[in-house]
Amino acid sequence: MEFRDLKAQYDKYKKEIDSAIQEVINNTNFIGGKEVNTLEQRLAEYVGVKHCITCANGTEAMTLLMMAWDIKEGDAVFVPDFTFFSTGEIVSFRGATPIFVDVDRDTFNIDTTKLEKAIKKVLDEGKLTPKVIIPVDLFGLPADHIEIEKIAKKYKLRVLEDAAQGFGGSINDKKAGSFGDAATTSFFPAKPLGCYGDGGAIFTNNDELAELLNSLKVHGKGDNKYDNVRIGVNSRLDSIQAAVLNVKLTAFIEHELDDVNRVYRLYTEKLKEVVDTPIIPEGYVSSFAQYTIKLKNKEERDALQAKLKEKGIPSMVYYTKPMHKQGAFAEYAYDDNDFEVTNVLCDTVLSLPMHPYLNEEEIDSVIKLISANIKVEIENRENKS
Ligand SMILES: *Cc1c(COP(=O)(O)O)cnc(C)c1O
Repeated sequence: MEFRDLKAQYDKYKKEIDSAIQEVINNTNFIGGKEVNTLEQRLAEYVGVKHCITCANGTEAMTLLMMAWDIKEGDAVFVPDFTFFSTGEIVSFRGATPIFVDVDRDTFNIDTTKLEKAIKKVLDEGKLTPKVIIPVDLFGLPADHIEIEKIAKKYKLRVLEDAAQGFGGSINDKKAGSFGDAATTSFFPAKPLGCYGDGGAIFTNNDELAELLNSLKVHGKGDNKYDNVRIGVNSRLDSIQAAVLNVKLTAFIEHELDDVNRVYRLYTEKLKEVVDTPIIPEGYVSSFAQYTIKLKNKEERDALQAKLKEKGIPSMVYYTKPMHKQGAFAEYAYDDNDFEVTNVLCDTVLSLPMHPYLNEEEIDSVIKLISANIKVEIENRENKS
């Protein structure tokens, strides 16, 4: 069994993917061109925004926005404590200060009450200027963008939605990637919509911002590539990756998003009696970048992971370490007591195999193994007491 089965996907779409790649090679147009333009149009339409700007990867997508907004030393940027390193890294990369905020114990997304507290604290201290909130749509579930928007308005902050894991999710039919002043996603192979290498994109309704980003990603180009009006970077999506994504986007829209939600329902129906299963709030749709359960404690989690491994079932711990404990941020001296929920989650979460091509037999075998082991655990505990 695969944790995320990219081979099964390729087997199903081999003909289309191979011919899309071959066409790029035949045309010998490897950067930009019609594959990239078509993809950007289709992505913008799917997400429901005016502009999609593709780039080299999801990290660069966020960095480009930090550049466009001139985020720098002395600025505070609010980031969930429970996320992939990249979300905090891009803040420090610009010399700004990441302010980590604890997450909600049910949704794993940024805790909006604690977010407002953190903003007030920075304002009270008066050393840094609050500038941006970066909510992450963790494991495919959109953050509480409705509440976040209210907070951003109140304190006049920008919002960057990190939808690297969230592509395809929605709140009341409004798609992930359409929240905030701008949003970013990643096409890393294991993400909900992945390519065959690195890739990323930015989404926004702001015409001026889109124009600036299109310049920044190509060496600060002006009228053309050899007219340079600002310092930028080289951050483009390759045509071959765009060609692959054009095939995969069709599959994603036609059935893959439905299929991961089918897997979610099958898992949850049986597992909810034995472990804490993902909580999807009313009106929300997750794109299930991960299906993540919670165990009682670290011992139970690690024992279950070992048992799964023994039976050839892959599982992962996202994430073993909160952001505020990463060595790269050691200089900031965060107070560990501010991160009660994230600290517990890092010890208790476990992500199970999740992809659109999981069959019922595979799902059943995962459920059976977990149920059997948790029941034994519970019996052992009762016998002891
Ligand atoms: C994967 C990921 C990124 C970075 O994307 P890359 O394309 O790997 O640079 C950023 N944020 C989150 C939450 C991610 O999961």
